Amino acid sequence: MGNSRFMLMFTPDLVNEPITYRMVKDFDLNINILRAEIDDNGGRLIINFEGSPQQIKQALKYLTDNKVQVKELVEYVRKDSERCTDCGMCVSICPVMAFQVDKVTWKVVFLNDKCIACGMCVDACPSAAMKLGQ
Ligand code: SF4
Ligand code: SF4
Repeated sequence: MGNSRFMLMFTPDLVNEPITYRMVKDFDLNINILRAEIDDNGGRLIINFEGSPQQIKQALKYLTDNKVQVKELVEYVRKDSERCTDCGMCVSICPVMAFQVDKVTWKVVFLNDKCIACGMCVDACPSAAMKLGQ
């Protein structure tokens, strides 16, 4: 079993399709929707798939065959260390404790593998050091 995170982009005509239901029912994947945005231009989901490489591959083929744009997210949120002032604001905001303060250097360390891409630190960082990937 593996975990892979993807961004799925839908045109407006696909927004109401039961895509995530099909991922579970037809491809036996465990899914976790991390972020969902819908507007007049369509929809965007950040989603985690858990399943075998073969199941994930088949699911991705289904999605692209149905005109869903798919992008694998190796790193959705990233920290620009040049801009970060180690103010600590993000440490208290992050709901999954994806930041740690190094007790020796007092630097704020970003733990990318814990991040669920909620975007709260991106909005809150006074130095604009946290960025959403595309
Ligand atoms: S809020 Fe921004 S500047 Fe402050 S520690 Fe976090 S990333 Fe660095
Ligand atoms: S995007 Fe959300 S989960 Fe990820 S580090 Fe920022 S606050 Fe934490």
